[in-house]
Amino acid sequence: MRYDVCIIGGGAEGLAAAAWLARRGLKPVVAERNAACGGRCSTREFHPGFKASPFADELAAIPADIFRAFDLARRGVVLAPAAPCGSPSAEADAIRSAVIKRAMEDAARVLPRGLFAKPVPSRPWPGEELAARTLAGATRMPMSGTVCDPTLSGSALAMLAGAPGGMAAGGLGRLGAALRSAAEETGAEISCGLEVTDIRRKGRRILGVGLADGSEIAARAVISTLDLKRTFLSLFAWNELPRELVERVAAFRLAPGTARLLVALEAPPDLPTGRGAEYLREPIHVAPVSLEDATLAWRSAAVPEHPPAIVRLVTAVDPFLAPGGAATLTVTLGAIPHAPFDGAWTKEKRDRLRDMALAAAETALPGTGERVKYAELLVPPDMESMIGATEGDLMGGELSASQMLGFRPFPQCHGTRTPVEGLYLAGPSSALGPLATCASGVAAATAVLADFAAGRLK
Ligand SMILES: Cc1cc2nc3c(=O)[nH]c(=O)nc-3n(C[C@H](O)[C@H](O)[C@H](O)COP(=O)(O)OP(=O)(O)OC[C@H]3O[C@@H](n4cnc5c(N)ncnc54)[C@H](O)[C@@H]3O)c2cc1C
Repeated sequence: MRYDVCIIGGGAEGLAAAAWLARRGLKPVVAERNAACGGRCSTREFHPGFKASPFADELAAIPADIFRAFDLARRGVVLAPAAPCGSPSAEADAIRSAVIKRAMEDAARVLPRGLFAKPVPSRPWPGEELAARTLAGATRMPMSGTVCDPTLSGSALAMLAGAPGGMAAGGLGRLGAALRSAAEETGAEISCGLEVTDIRRKGRRILGVGLADGSEIAARAVISTLDLKRTFLSLFAWNELPRELVERVAAFRLAPGTARLLVALEAPPDLPTGRGAEYLREPIHVAPVSLEDATLAWRSAAVPEHPPAIVRLVTAVDPFLAPGGAATLTVTLGAIPHAPFDGAWTKEKRDRLRDMALAAAETALPGTGERVKYAELLVPPDMESMIGATEGDLMGGELSASQMLGFRPFPQCHGTRTPVEGLYLAGPSSALGPLATCASGVAAATAVLADFAAGRLK
């Protein structure tokens, strides 16, 4: 059987692309290497009765029209609005709103009409003003430490990462399941347990993909939701692509890795004196003494002495993530190396990082330590093996001026079409990846539909 489109990866973006294509009469198939779909939109019971989403607690906003088109409310998706994250300054806020507005206008040109706003003619970005700025100059906030390098010009752009969407009731896995049901209901085929190993072509024509079990899926086009490096450097033979493209992809910079500690607590921590009840519901940033030092440590493949941390009592927003009377807490540590300079992630190193995360939790919420029943640590190599994110970089590439917006992942690849005919890129390395959940999948599907309609895909 030959499909119209094979989509690599069954995360939010792949499932959204499949649903969008199937609703418009094409035959898409999703190949997901894990036993279940969802990718980073998954929820795990990490200790009996205690659940958390292993990769992130929140997701970027889903555009309202996509939410409605996939009937996500009927499928049980309830989003808790994101807690406001303290703004570094009014000036930074104004820049952020102006540039998000421009990003949405630009997005409207590659997304179906009316999804964000009316299509608008292209205008130059207000790049120079932002590119000259360092994050250190604009703010001392840690911003999770995963997206910014305070010593790098253009880091203020990291503040542009899409408007927060919030937590999904029941964990992000609910969203993954709802998207799968939306895709299947319209006729898309979703196949789990299939790892794609290569993209097959004859001349310039896409034939389909090869799978780890030796079989193949025939398709006329391929959408990859894997990050840029994995898409081009692992799914093609080293000599199959033009040298310039390979060099461009190799030069794409990754963002620092993230570690996550999922913690089961016997009882919720007390509200610290002087804090309002909202404090417990928000992500609590524990800033290191020097964010520059943390980033420099990461650049030298060392674990920072004080990594930036975000502590989140997820059950304060969603009580169903723990048994009655108990609580679930997560700690996200930024600037964590994938491969430490002094060798692999041994048990000792993991234990040290676990203690750092628990110390951050204690700083944010005193008394947490004595209530810990169980804690599970995930470091960047774990993230890489769980969802295939290169070096555990959940951002799909550094968010600096030269890799953002119209430049993401690189100018010749903007707008989801890639230099390889019939191959489209969605997911975190694509231009829309950082802006909104599902948008990059829908944008890739839209480009595929346009190319089929124009007879460009045979
Ligand atoms: C600035 C920024 C902020 C972000 N903030 C958040 C956030 O707060 N919350 C959040 O959830 N996300 C966040 N993201 C990530 C972003 O939302 C992603 O663009 C998107 O949500 C990830 O979905 P996905 O479907 O592309 O990838 P994933 O969910 O990672 O899905 C990829 C799937 O592909 C599968 N796979 C991997 N290799 C293979 C293979 N060889 N064959 C078959 N299948 C394979 C994996 O198992 C996985 O299921 C952020 C990104 C950026 C850039």
